[in-house]
Amino acid sequence: MSVVLVVNSGSSSFKYQLIEMDGERVLASGLVERIGEAAGHAEHKTAGEPFEIERPIPNHTAGFRLMLDAFANHGPSLTEHAPVAVGHRVVHGGARFFEATLIDDLVEINIDDLSFLAPLHNPGALQGIRAARRAFDAVPHVAVFDTAFHQTMPPEAYTYALERETAEKHRIRRYGFHGTSHKFVSEAAAAYLGRPNSELKQVVFHLGNGASVTAVDGGRSVDTSMGFTPLEGLVMGTRTGDIDPAVLIHLQRRAGLTTNELDDLVNKRSGLVGLAGANDMRDLTARAQAGEAEAQLAIDVYTHRLRAYAGAYLAQLGGADVISFTAGVGENVAHIRAAALRGLEFAGVEIDAERNENAKRGEITRISSDASRVAVLVVPTDEEVEIARQTLAAAQE
Ligand code: ADP
Repeated sequence: MSVVLVVNSGSSSFKYQLIEMDGERVLASGLVERIGEAAGHAEHKTAGEPFEIERPIPNHTAGFRLMLDAFANHGPSLTEHAPVAVGHRVVHGGARFFEATLIDDLVEINIDDLSFLAPLHNPGALQGIRAARRAFDAVPHVAVFDTAFHQTMPPEAYTYALERETAEKHRIRRYGFHGTSHKFVSEAAAAYLGRPNSELKQVVFHLGNGASVTAVDGGRSVDTSMGFTPLEGLVMGTRTGDIDPAVLIHLQRRAGLTTNELDDLVNKRSGLVGLAGANDMRDLTARAQAGEAEAQLAIDVYTHRLRAYAGAYLAQLGGADVISFTAGVGENVAHIRAAALRGLEFAGVEIDAERNENAKRGEITRISSDASRVAVLVVPTDEEVEIARQTLAAAQE
């Protein structure tokens, strides 16, 4: 029986899941947070039962010790369920990492080198990797990158029409993110349809707080909406998505906004929050249904962008066999799914309103009509399981 530990570290927290790979069953999960703050906090859940721990956690190494204590005190036993490998989520693999990679000191240096591309994410991941390698020093550790799946994009999809010397000097190109989820969902969709992934053209909408859409051709990402950073593309909970970059130049010149203020504006104070003061789709839906114009406009801007990308990717792929929706909004909000594909009947896309409304939580559901040429699916994503699969495969190579 193989067990894999999956770790997702930030600069002041990390989440973990212990996964039994035969049934892809979660044996335990938890969260260690407020590392480096006066009062640290940890939560360990096993067989559905949660345990909380409050105590200062000076650094990631102390965090992993706390996690090992939690396993020892509340189970399951790590002797009985010893992980054969540890998988780490890493946001940015640049153009260097195109697949899950066994971590050694050189890989650590490379992840560190790429921190200039993801200053908020890679340094935290690296702290987690270093502490975890000390805590589990006898097993392989594997880095699974959010960008890796998109490394198959062709140059015309990943190149910005930006002056070449400047772009090359600063490594500015489109990288794409959410790759682990897009890979998992496109493979799950193919398996559900009982068709080889290599023969399918797919569009995958990952609509969570962050949101992106990917065109997948024969199992390979050929275009995706996030670019140099996770800011590009769809309207998100707090991010603008696509916007004329001249707006930023204008705000800097005319309103005197600083670099940090602009960063904050487009990443944290825009999107659905910026338009209607909330990023939870339940809240916005209720307000729009009550007739509030602001909430309705936010939803309309959001779905207008989804349709634009659906059309663009259907054109890039020359039509699709399957379109999938995943993540918080994609899995739960029927009216968003319907609006995202409205008007695409000419391309063979037809949603069945009742199937869409009744899609069951946590299960793959087909929401297209029997007559629809394109299968439209709701597919629950599972990034941890995908990281665990890739970790096990890389560790066994
Ligand atoms: P993250 O990107 O943070 O992982 P999720 O995939 O969990 O995000 O998605 C979070 C978003 O999903 C929330 O902001 C909310 O808008 C939406 N969401 C989650 N559950 C529901 C639900 N039952 N109904 C409507 N919206 C939901």
